Amino acid sequence: MRRMTTDTPILMYHSVSERAPRRFRRFSVTPRGFEQQLRHMRERGCTALTIGELMRLRAGRLENPPARPVVLTFDDGFADFHEHAMPALARYGMRATLYVTTGYVGRTSAWLQGIGAGHLPMLNWGQLAELAQHGIEIGAHTASHPALDALPRIEAAREIVVSKRTLEDKLGIAVDSFAYPFGYHSPGVRRAVREAGFGSACAVGYRTSRPDENPFALSRHIACEQTQTVALDALLGTRPTSMAVLRDRLRSAAWARLRHHVLGYNHA
Ligand SMILES: [Zn+2]
Repeated sequence: MRRMTTDTPILMYHSVSERAPRRFRRFSVTPRGFEQQLRHMRERGCTALTIGELMRLRAGRLENPPARPVVLTFDDGFADFHEHAMPALARYGMRATLYVTTGYVGRTSAWLQGIGAGHLPMLNWGQLAELAQHGIEIGAHTASHPALDALPRIEAAREIVVSKRTLEDKLGIAVDSFAYPFGYHSPGVRRAVREAGFGSACAVGYRTSRPDENPFALSRHIACEQTQTVALDALLGTRPTSMAVLRDRLRSAAWARLRHHVLGYNHA
């Protein structure tokens, strides 16, 4: 098996909902917008891998490596993942990784109170068990969602270890992946994650993850409602197919004719 040598876009999502509070909207995508993104990825020939699969791909241990991998990650564990994201992922045959803040399971997103989003329902343990059974990789995202780089070393280590153990005990699965709350990390935090027994950790980074990247500081792009077509192609590193270009042209030609007909004028 050959080692992975190409860059892989890792997309970061949070909530998939129609009703995101105003100041939380840049971390949110509507179910319709999310479905459009999945359709677009499928049209571009992308195959969604979990983070664990990407790590195996990079180590040369994944059978049948896809030509065009993409990784979809969801932070925090919002209940709308079960309601909206999972059914859409299943329709498109896409896999994903979900990073869970264990202290908020079955509760609400109280740590987001400061931006008016503290009331959002979080996944419960029954839903998490169901997701794990359906091929969603469950990763850890601390117990209480602190900025780990600002905590004393012992407290940061406790947050990291407790979230892993809680998920493993409650769900009976091995938890190998971690994501830093807010994307914040430091050399000490990265070491604590490695020493806790994780094999990878996602940050933010706003760039496409390179095969030689530190597995404890994986770069992710933020995906939101506006990440459609051209913006999504830019993140995926894909180019429109000639069919898509043709369809876009026909669509704009049809619109130009309609606008001329309805408004009696036409401008570029
Ligand atoms: Zn988070």
